[in-house]
Amino acid sequence: MSILVYISTTGGKIKRSALEVLSHCREQAAANNSEVAAVVLDADATSFTETLQSYGAKKIYTVSNPVFKTHLNAPITEALLKVIDQAKPSVFACASTEGTKDIIGALAAKTGAATLPDVANFELTSDGVSALRPVMAAKILSQNTASGDLVLVSVRSGSYDASQSPVVSETIAVDYSPSDFAQVLREVLSSAGDKVDLSEANVVIAAGRGIKDEAGKKLIEDLAESLGGAIGASRAVVENGMFPATAQIGQTGKVVSPELYFAIGISGAVQHTAGMSNSKVIVAINKDADAPIFQMASYGLVGDLYKILPILTEEIKKIRN
Ligand SMILES: Cc1cc2nc3c(=O)[nH]c(=O)nc-3n(C[C@H](O)[C@H](O)[C@H](O)COP(=O)(O)OP(=O)(O)OC[C@H]3O[C@@H](n4cnc5c(N)ncnc54)[C@H](O)[C@@H]3O)c2cc1C
Repeated sequence: MSILVYISTTGGKIKRSALEVLSHCREQAAANNSEVAAVVLDADATSFTETLQSYGAKKIYTVSNPVFKTHLNAPITEALLKVIDQAKPSVFACASTEGTKDIIGALAAKTGAATLPDVANFELTSDGVSALRPVMAAKILSQNTASGDLVLVSVRSGSYDASQSPVVSETIAVDYSPSDFAQVLREVLSSAGDKVDLSEANVVIAAGRGIKDEAGKKLIEDLAESLGGAIGASRAVVENGMFPATAQIGQTGKVVSPELYFAIGISGAVQHTAGMSNSKVIVAINKDADAPIFQMASYGLVGDLYKILPILTEEIKKIRN
């Protein structure tokens, strides 16, 4: 059994979710007398080797090419196939991000591997992987197993803690020049106000239908600024045009797993909680004491958000100053 972990990067940094998967795979490898390898693709992939070493990757495959400055499915798939062919892992694991959702199907089709996407946890078995997958908007956890020469698995963010465990690593630079692809990614547009990447944020301030107007939106922005957090939203306030579609959290939006999640004026519909239930600490602010969100909240404030938020933000600013 050998595990190869794909390390996604963004803006010159390794994604937290990738380090979570690497940490778990390192523990799984140790428990199964095996070793974990990592693969990183970037314009300068070697710049990440020190970090990967500190998280316990015994072998680090680096593929450096300017084409990886932005996310483009075809070269990522092509380069990963090359590394899979060279490393011959029995399990290929990655964080379940929008980027990896784009490529895991292609990898499965090209390699013929069994695939378990978007799992909440997994462990190695004698001939593959056993995993729990949230299904039906995370109402049900389904136990799945997959076996074969190669199993692909992607893991929801926040499922494991990223923990360091330094090792001496071997670094293998893989030669790669992209084929002549028809597609070119010219520009990545981020929506205005996206100061912090929602999927990777440590603090998320999420707004729901309780936010009724621009004044309410400003209260959310002020709280987010005071905590250096990212702004998220329920589908209700995306559909009414108050927040951008990129902010939507839930079954049909993003999955987030911050240390601290504020659900403000959000009832806690299962389609919403499917995207944030892995948050470590959940603070709910809602005027309805029976709102379902309180059942999963670590802290609950029952009251009018228009009265609570100005005081809360003011106090946070005082403490932070
Ligand atoms: C197939 C499908 C997919 C879906 N995908 C998603 C998804 O990805 N993400 C998502 O979020 N939803 C999704 N939904 C919609 C979901 O079912 C809910 O309708 C939605 O999450 C409700 O958003 P909300 O909590 O903001 O609104 P509501 O359910 O209307 O709740 C608003 C809350 O605000 C409180 N409130 C109102 N005024 C105040 C105030 N002044 N102070 C304090 N509290 C106040 C109310 O008490 C209430 O609890 C999906 C639905 C379907 C059918």
